[in-house]
Formats: sequence, structure tokens, C-alpha cells
Amino acid sequence: MGSNNPINSMVSIDNSGFTEEQTNYLSGFVSGVLQARELPFLGQDAAGRFTHEPAAAVEETVFGTPLDDLCKEERIKHEKNGLDCYDTILANAATKEFPKDGDVFRYKFHGLFFVSPAQESIMLRCRIAGGALSTYQFRGLAEIAADWGPGHADLTTRANVQIRELMPENCPKVLMKLADIGLSSQGSGADNLRNITATPTSGFDPDELIDVMPYARAMHHYILKNRDLYGLPRKFNIAFDSGGRISACADTNDIAFYAVKVGANDKGIEPGVYFRMQLCGITGHKQFASDSGVLLTPEETVPVAAALIRAFIENGDRTNRKKARLKYLVDKWGIPKMLEETQKKLAFPLRYLPLDACEPSAPKMKHGHLGIHEQNDGKHYIGVLTPVGRISVSQMHALADVADQFGRGEIRLTVWQNLIIPGISEENLQAAITAIHATGLEHRNNPITGGLIACTGSRGCKYAAADTKGHAIALGEHLTGKMILDQPINLHLTGCQHSCAQHYIGDIGMIGARVKTDDGSTVDGFNIVLGGGCDDTQAIAREVWKNVRADEMPALIEQLLVVYLRDRNEDETFIQFTNRHTPEALMDLCDPAKTAAA
Ligand code: SF4
Repeated sequence: MGSNNPINSMVSIDNSGFTEEQTNYLSGFVSGVLQARELPFLGQDAAGRFTHEPAAAVEETVFGTPLDDLCKEERIKHEKNGLDCYDTILANAATKEFPKDGDVFRYKFHGLFFVSPAQESIMLRCRIAGGALSTYQFRGLAEIAADWGPGHADLTTRANVQIRELMPENCPKVLMKLADIGLSSQGSGADNLRNITATPTSGFDPDELIDVMPYARAMHHYILKNRDLYGLPRKFNIAFDSGGRISACADTNDIAFYAVKVGANDKGIEPGVYFRMQLCGITGHKQFASDSGVLLTPEETVPVAAALIRAFIENGDRTNRKKARLKYLVDKWGIPKMLEETQKKLAFPLRYLPLDACEPSAPKMKHGHLGIHEQNDGKHYIGVLTPVGRISVSQMHALADVADQFGRGEIRLTVWQNLIIPGISEENLQAAITAIHATGLEHRNNPITGGLIACTGSRGCKYAAADTKGHAIALGEHLTGKMILDQPINLHLTGCQHSCAQHYIGDIGMIGARVKTDDGSTVDGFNIVLGGGCDDTQAIAREVWKNVRADEMPALIEQLLVVYLRDRNEDETFIQFTNRHTPEALMDLCDPAKTAAA
């Protein structure tokens, strides 16, 4: 074989094993390939005609955002959908390993949170539509907490249940057990639609306009059945308010559906019960949901929410986590454009009606989730105070027994980290109360601890600047030991800016801070905000004190409440009192030195 053979000059192939005929064939083939490479690219234009224009390189994007511009969490989602990490959960269970790198985020698509370094364990967050559980489900959750968790569960501010201290080898068993009892944790964390909340007395509330539980359940199941409703730009909250007596803090949600009555009108709208759609509540950013002008029949709520969410999925910011919530898209577009984009995805027209054409709802009953209350069927519900939401396995079983024996076999969780046992007849009330007290829990409202809520805090959350649950219990004990309040107040302790306990809507809100001491170390502390509320007492609390040491806070709050009781006008609520004063005036009023001098 000669060295002038074209195959040798074109490509470096050892052709010593070929016959001459084979070499000539390969030579022709390779030169043909090389010539073809030099031809202009044969592509197709937009109309499908062949062209000799080079095809434009198509840049890969996620809903229009180039991959290079995606934030870290978006890249993780793009690499592998969090819903598809079950094999990893199984593999990690087999080797008893915690998730690593991007899988820590993907686990949250299954409601599993690896909470290191706060704890070297995994936390389960469920989905419980409207906070409604059968006693069978409540007992099943108790069994998960007993068999694989710490022997207790936490009731959350989204009327949900979290169980901590799970080990990786138990995660598949936990998820299977959840499914066995008819529950799911799918999408309860990460950038997904969170637990759907609802007025907890729905269906038996004498003041309600409509039972919203069927719509909360329908929304819950719609999410579970539609894979495209996962992996949003950021988390997303939805709530249904029945117009009933207990607040579900619906106006703190991305979408809040408020039941309203529409009377006779000249707009061609049939009188009846509808929902107003409010948008963009995000109180950690000091914003309540605001009315969109849209009026929906109950059956329209789920398709409209789904359409709006899909418009958000396609257009929300995927480059900056701090600007990724719905609020920021609506800030950019305005509500009219948000609704226009929603309308494009709907098969029916949105209905508009001014807010003032609807009848105002009845005011909420503060702490109405506690104590004994008559239902619309003549039976009663009993609210049970579970301090900062923590409840032991034995208490869970005992309360399930109460609900089975005296109620209707149901437990309702509230966004106030407490629970309700409905359907108790008059003659069984005393026996039910005795059984509740036997668990060590109280049913009577306490104006101070009845609205005392705290996020997980530093014992179980890596973001926390303080042990919120521990300090909340200490604060409640200190105040109840010192004074009697004749007005209920809400005390919200949150560990960081994520605002899980919504400090800005507390009468007194506390957000964790590391406070420097004289020796340069830091201790738990709080910044204190005053005068917040939601629904008919809607207000964002104002900051009054910064960097108060946690061990000095109970005495300061006590002084504040003493000043309120002493200086308030007749029937003045704490919110009204604090908002009548400037922060400086409140500081002066509570300064022991100035008070003594005066
Ligand atoms: Fe953790 Fe912060 Fe949420 Fe508290 S508010 S649970 S510290 S993320």
C-alpha cells in the first residue's frame, strides 16, 4: 500500500490489515464525508422549506431563561426534576445516607427536609387539605412519630403536621405509611404549592357563608394530579376563607379566596355566594394580599388558580430567589396583565365586580379556635390548646379517642398551631373535656397563650437566630404567671426573615436576632414589632425594639402589657393602642427609668 493513498493523508488509520479493494472503498467514503462537511448546511426555514442557511443555534432555556442565568435551585431542578428522586431516596435508605448536594433540595419535593446542621436528621412535612384529618389519619401520623420520629409531632402555621428526627433508612417506610393512611407529602417543600389552608370550622361554622372544605380538597388533589404544577419559580400559598368566625390568615397567601355574598345588583350577576380573589400576600415582605376585582363561583376557584399559577410558572423570575415570588411578577406587570395572562388559559371569561358591591363579611373571633363553641347543627366543637404546636404521640392517640368516642371521628388543624375536635353533642361535652384535660392539654382560651405561636427555631432549623419555641414557652409562662389580660392577643415568634410564624401579623411579633454581649459573644435575642393583625384587623406590625436579649424579653413584654392595661382608652384593643403611639413613645412608656422618674 503506497503512502500516496488518500485515506492515509486524510485520516490517521492503520490500514495495513485491508485489501487494496477495501482501502479504495474506504478512501472514497471518507473523502465523500469530508466534502460533505464543506457543503453549506442544508436546513429548513420556518415554513419547512429546505435552505442552505446555517440553522440558528437554539439556546436551551427554562421558560425563556438561559441556563447560564438560572439561580442555583433552578439549575438543580433543571438537572433532575425533584419528583424523580425516589430512586435516590431508596438508595440512600439502603446505605443509611443523608442526601447530598442538589438532592437535599430535591428531597423537599417529597416533603423530606435534611435539616443539618441544626439536626443530623430529616423532617417530614405532610400535605393535609384544609387541615382536616380523620382520626385514622391522625393516629397514623402518631405511629410515624412513634416508630421513626422523636415521639412527638409539630402542628404548623399552615394547618399541617411535621415530624422530625427521621433517619434516611426510614424515609421510604414513612412515605409508604403516609400513602397507606391516605396522605401525601408530595410538593410540601421547595418551589411548590404548599398545603392548602381553609377556615378550620368549615362545614359546621354557624357564621360561614359556604363550606370551603370541598374546594380546598379539590385544589389539593388537582395539584397532586398535575405534574406541571411543580417546580414553580418559588413557593406558593393558597387559602380558602369561608366567611366564618375563625381566621385562616388567608390574606397572607399568594392567592386568597374569600367567600362573599352578592345581593341584588345591576351588573347582571346572579345573587348568591361567590369568592373574591385576592393576590400576593407575603407578610415577610410586609404585604397583604389585595383584591383583584375578580369574582368567582366556587367551582371556578380551582381552574382560575391553576391558570394563574401556570402563567406564573411561565413568566416568574428564575434568576434571583429574592425576586421569584408571585408578588414580584405582579409588581412588574400589574394585576390587570396578570389577569390577562390568566384569562388566556381559561375556557370561560373572568367575572369582575367592585369589592363594594359585595356584602361585608362578619368580623373574625380572635382565639375562636379555642374553647367550646356551638356548631350550625346544634352540636359543639372544642378547640384544644397545644402550646407552640408540639403534641406527643400519647396525646395524639388520646385526642383521637376523644374525637371517636364523643365527636365525629375528625380532627381539624388550625393555622394557630392548635386543633379542633368537632361534632360533640351537649351531653358529651363534660366527658370530652375531662378526657382532653387528662392528656395534659387545656381547652379553655388563655388570652396570652391562646395565640402564642412559634416557628421551629434553632433546635431544628439551620436558619434560626434563636430558639423560638423554647423562648415562646418561657414567655407564655412568665406572662400568665404575672397578669390577667381581658383581651386576647397574638404573640408570634419567628426565627428568621423567612417569617414562618409571621411576626408582622402578631399583636406582638418577635424575629430572632443574635445579640452581642459585653464579652463579644452572642446570645439569642429578638427584634420586636408591635400592632400587627390580619383579616378585619389587618395591619403590618411596626418595629419598636431591636436586639433585645431573649432573657430580658419577658420582663419587657410584661411592662408593655402593663402600660397597655393602664393607659388604653375604653375597649381599645392592643393593636389600636400600639398603633395610636409612635414607636418612640412606646419605648418611653416601657422604659422603667423614665416610668419611675415620671
Ligand atoms: Fe426556620 Fe426561619 Fe422558618 Fe423559623 S422562620 S422555621 S428559623 S426558616
